[in-house]
Amino acid sequence: MPLSSITKHRAKQCTAKSKRTGLPCKNPAAYECRACRMHGARKAESIKRGEQHPNFVHGNRTLEAQAEQSATSRRLQQIEDAMHLLGMTTAKRSRGRKANGYCKINLVNEVKKVLEDC
Ligand SMILES: [Zn+2]
Repeated sequence: MPLSSITKHRAKQCTAKSKRTGLPCKNPAAYECRACRMHGARKAESIKRGEQHPNFVHGNRTLEAQAEQSATSRRLQQIEDAMHLLGMTTAKRSRGRKANGYCKINLVNEVKKVLEDC
């Protein structure tokens, strides 16, 4: 049974749900928030992001930095494909997971596209 502030005074109810039962939380939501104090009530302006966040160290792991690293890795893997396709090297192929968005180069026409992007 929700608290009387919800039933009688039309206070907003917390939007969190229980992991075990799936039932919604019965506490009233905190002022100007969607969740109650037990489920992480935070005002949007009090949430710190980027360099203001207390765990920010150097910025190498931000979403933008990771996307740039992934693009660079993808470009290098495609250049490696091009080198093998054109017979420029006999070295072993690099191992491991390929970058996001990587697609193997099998045709000489695709090599031209890769070289134009560089
Ligand atoms: Zn709650």
